[in-house]
Amino acid sequence: MAKRDYYEVLGVSNSASEDELKKAYRKIALKYHPDRNPGDQSAEEKFKEATEAYEVLSDSGKRSRYDRFGHAGVGQSPDGMGDFSGFGTGGLGDVFNDIFGEFFGGAPGRGSRTRASRGSDLQYNLEISFEEAAFGHTTEIDVPRMEICGQCGGLGARSSKDVEVCGVCQGTGQQRVQQGFFSVATTCGRCRGEGKVIRTPCPICHGSTRVKKTKRIRVNIPAGVDNDSRIKLSGEGEQGYNGGPPGDLYIALRIQSHPIFERIENDLYCEVPISFAHAALGTELEVPTLEGTARLKVPSGSQTHRVFRLRNKGIVHLRGNRRGDLHVRIIVETPSHLTSRQKEILEEFESLSNEGSHPLHSKFMDKIKGLFS
Ligand SMILES: [Zn+2]
Ligand SMILES: [Zn+2]
Repeated sequence: MAKRDYYEVLGVSNSASEDELKKAYRKIALKYHPDRNPGDQSAEEKFKEATEAYEVLSDSGKRSRYDRFGHAGVGQSPDGMGDFSGFGTGGLGDVFNDIFGEFFGGAPGRGSRTRASRGSDLQYNLEISFEEAAFGHTTEIDVPRMEICGQCGGLGARSSKDVEVCGVCQGTGQQRVQQGFFSVATTCGRCRGEGKVIRTPCPICHGSTRVKKTKRIRVNIPAGVDNDSRIKLSGEGEQGYNGGPPGDLYIALRIQSHPIFERIENDLYCEVPISFAHAALGTELEVPTLEGTARLKVPSGSQTHRVFRLRNKGIVHLRGNRRGDLHVRIIVETPSHLTSRQKEILEEFESLSNEGSHPLHSKFMDKIKGLFS
């Protein structure tokens, strides 16, 4: 039998608006819906025909291809252009629910609690010290989570004898309800689609099948973790439903700050104040590192804010065993609260200063002279 024109099927002109299409389809679908015409083959055919027409015309891409190429434009064409899914597959359910929503009880099986589903993922926020992040650490945490009730084994009832087939839906989970002149399938109100009811609930979980438990879990924190690191513990989230797999547990780390070191990725930074005499004369400093102190030679004539890099004294990389560096910045401290003797010496020192001892200052003074001469 030749396919009828989709516009003709819906009884609209080919300039019909989306709204007109929807109204026309709704009218036909309500008239020929199989629920209203049990066993009527020709009604079912009309219903399918209208649904197919509506599925194509309500999609602007398919509609324009249909307008240009007819049924071939939306059929199973070898050039891969067509994507019409045909009656009874995925696309139809969406179209149908779109128009009728929950009127027919939605898609069958949706939201049913009897299906296996994966447990929820959990997140645990853990604060650790700067050193624990740098060197790695093993700790134990107490994670509260919902677990299958040990008393009833997830049954929800006092015993298996306390579970009975739902008398309202005879175990199907679906109920036929008269709505106007329609018989409509909805989720059973008594058993909420489960198909069974519990006569006496489990005294521990009160029928919910789950209880809150705190589980102690060992966490290995690898060396080199940083503030944005998350550790995934597979299968340590909440238990699944009806035999579904458990979720995962994510440990979100927050690293405490350090009184001396600042961390940027795997490098460490710290500032060490030194006296101006030491900066001028040169000295050997004892500087802090993550593993105690290290000697740092500061050459004579070092300016303030000069940075010395101590290789491999930073943080280990999370992947691989390379290490970052430690950057030590010296801060030359100008002396204050001088004694009269110190003042004397400094005044004498200043009087002996020349261009060579303060080249920056000399250069600057030259520039100023150039400006005003
Ligand atoms: Zn029921
Ligand atoms: Zn229980």
